[in-house]
Amino acid sequence: PYDVLVVGGGPAGASAAIYAARKGIRTGIVAERFGGQVLDTLSIENFISVKHTEGPKFAASLEEHVKEYNIDIMNLQRAKRLEKKDLIEIELENGAVLKSKTVILSTGARWRNIGVPGEAEFKNKGVAYCPHCDGPLFAGKDVAVIGGGNSGVEAAIDLAGIVNHVTVLEYNSELKADSVLQDRLQSLPNVTVLTNAQTKEITGTDKVNGISYVDRESGDVKHIELAGVFVQIGLVPNTDWLGETVERSKFGEIIIDQRGSTNTPGVFAAGDCTNSPYKQIIISMGSGATASLSAFDYLIRN
Ligand code: FAD
Repeated sequence: PYDVLVVGGGPAGASAAIYAARKGIRTGIVAERFGGQVLDTLSIENFISVKHTEGPKFAASLEEHVKEYNIDIMNLQRAKRLEKKDLIEIELENGAVLKSKTVILSTGARWRNIGVPGEAEFKNKGVAYCPHCDGPLFAGKDVAVIGGGNSGVEAAIDLAGIVNHVTVLEYNSELKADSVLQDRLQSLPNVTVLTNAQTKEITGTDKVNGISYVDRESGDVKHIELAGVFVQIGLVPNTDWLGETVERSKFGEIIIDQRGSTNTPGVFAAGDCTNSPYKQIIISMGSGATASLSAFDYLIRN
């Protein structure tokens, strides 16, 4: 069996695997797609000490670093079941069953797509999901935020300090964000809130040039010219496959403590699949290291 088996090959998983291997213990990593979300990222400017890089390049250096160590890499393999027996078993979709003394779950998350024409076409060409990451790309320009929940309103407040103007589009008749956030939003001079606004299409040529929406009260279709659209309708953790085996929040996030432990002994978790509050590369790598050191601590005590 493995001493540490990492499930997920994004920044959190790569960090966890390297920290484990550096203890000289038997380490494996299973990944559906090694690199994770950074493969879909264009430019990365907030990974401290690296002024600028690109997602695919960053993913390649993650893999290169992991390959420096004696780590079994099982890429293009999806885990479908976890079971805690004497050892912890991870069953893969191809039928193989891997056994390990500890497991680190780092299966990440995905942004919920709005699914309108133009969204997929203009991803990274004006359609963005992460204001912390991509906000500065739109400095001085006009943008829209789709979604009036907490993440949408936080994004709009954040962006209002960087861009020229922000339009928030909310499908329902009112925003759902906490009232303190709504008050802050209303106080900003360069934000317009549209309620009952159903996004219809993100328009553009080689990059985004506007957004069309249906005014659900009048039924009219309206168009706004702008340079960027931030889709903020939720982040979905890749944790469905876990069923009831580890405790998850109502959003599906794996609940961990400050050591990265789950409620199941020997099972740890890190990164965007957990209830950690901010979802960023540097944060998921830190939590991967924490989970790995906790797994090592568990091994020497059990
Ligand atoms: P992920 O990167 O999601 O990796 C999850 C891994 O688990 C993948 O390998 C996946 O294939 C695998 N996996 C999932 N399910 C299974 C399964 N059942 N079995 C096996 N493997 C599985 N952050 C920044 O700090 N700066 C940025 O500039 C930035 N830009 C971004 C731009 C975009 C478009 C997106 C989508 C995100 C961006 N982020 C950025 C956020 C950042 O990418 C994430 O916070 C980070 O990748 C999370 O790392 P993770 O390892 O927890 O999860």
